[in-house]
Amino acid sequence: MGADWDVMTSSSLRGQVVVITGGARGIGYATARTLIERGARVAIGDIDETRLLAAADELGLEVTGRLDVTDGESFRAFYSMVSERLGTPDVLINNAGIMPVGPTLEEPEEAARRMVDINLHGVITGTKIALASMLPRRNGHIINIASMAGEAFVPGAATYCATKAAVIAFTEAVRLEHRTSGVSVSLVLPTFTNTELVAGTTGPRGFRNAEPEEIADAIAGLLERPRPRAYVTRVMGQVLAAQRFMPRSVAEGLARRLGGEQMFLAGVDPSARQAYEQRAGKS
Ligand code: NAD
Repeated sequence: MGADWDVMTSSSLRGQVVVITGGARGIGYATARTLIERGARVAIGDIDETRLLAAADELGLEVTGRLDVTDGESFRAFYSMVSERLGTPDVLINNAGIMPVGPTLEEPEEAARRMVDINLHGVITGTKIALASMLPRRNGHIINIASMAGEAFVPGAATYCATKAAVIAFTEAVRLEHRTSGVSVSLVLPTFTNTELVAGTTGPRGFRNAEPEEIADAIAGLLERPRPRAYVTRVMGQVLAAQRFMPRSVAEGLARRLGGEQMFLAGVDPSARQAYEQRAGKS
């Protein structure tokens, strides 16, 4: 107990007010738990109120609230509520996201718009709200959860890849814009991670999926030592980096050998994926 307590109290996260979007399950939930263990004061928001209440109970959170990241009013109200109850947020983690997959031509227009709304506009809205409160204080950290799918494009997830590539571009531009402002802006690019979002899919052949706790550790690491981005797992980050130096035909051949061509098409187990796709459709 003594040693654990020393670790908790020595973390630079101690007392920091952290807001996490989409924190009711998966990566957001694991991140909330990790940051609480390191002494942060965490508030989670999520569109799924039932799961949100259960998560808050499990994590012993004082502050949670229904949040729809696609609705600016909802986001501003949630952020203000956290500011009043816990203090001005030091950290915003834009994590909420959805990933419906399948053949591009079969994707309903509504699904594409919803993905852009949540995965991209949600991040843009959150970043602006946090900047408005952090810039005058010359202090704060915004972490946007992108994906390796924003750099390694996968058939069957074209719109998802597009949203994540856009999150990467947006975040990098905002980081450069505010380089000397005292506010840090970072990206996390996870590989396949074992949450409901990847239900019924298999990750790259020969490589393991990440666990949500590994993404949480990477986020904690970025907060303790701010850097522009983190790739998780590190090995998949290295594969991605190596592909950049390969001729296109070699890089695409490697992606096919890893199973990339079918992982979101014929490689999907529809019955294992059905519940996730239904939930994502209602988000
Ligand atoms: P998840 O489905 O387990 O959790 C996502 C949470 O976001 C859910 O609780 C959901 O209710 C919430 N959400 C959805 N729409 C929302 C909205 N409009 N407003 C507020 N909350 C909303 O998914 P996850 O795997 O934990 O994904 C978290 C983030 O990580 C996403 O941005 C995802 O794209 C990204 N990511 C995931 C993986 C992976 O393999 N799991 C890989 C790379 C990146």
